[in-house]
Amino acid sequence: MTPDQLAHIRSIIDARIAEIETSLAEDDPESKPVAPDVAIGRLSRLDSMQAQQMNLAQQRRQREELEHLKNALERMDKGSYGTCAYCLSPIAYERLEAMPDAVICISCAR
Ligand SMILES: [Zn+2]
Repeated sequence: MTPDQLAHIRSIIDARIAEIETSLAEDDPESKPVAPDVAIGRLSRLDSMQAQQMNLAQQRRQREELEHLKNALERMDKGSYGTCAYCLSPIAYERLEAMPDAVICISCAR
């Protein structure tokens, strides 16, 4: 990978991290309790609880992705970024561009 390509991937990762952090800050479940029955009725309360569950699941995925992306940045700093964790061959640039937190190459992923 050329330094330019590496810089490009880093900018993708930085943008994605910023995006996730904004999204996580916006819908903090603690700040949005489920509304009481009175106003919206039993069924819609169930709906909103379900929506909250989905929201929590999405946040878990986002936190995981955030963790992976930060690990990717660490690997960049150490110079080990883009090397397959299994077979140690370089991971294709196209794969990293599409999935910047990839730790294994396409052959090992199959
Ligand atoms: Zn591999």
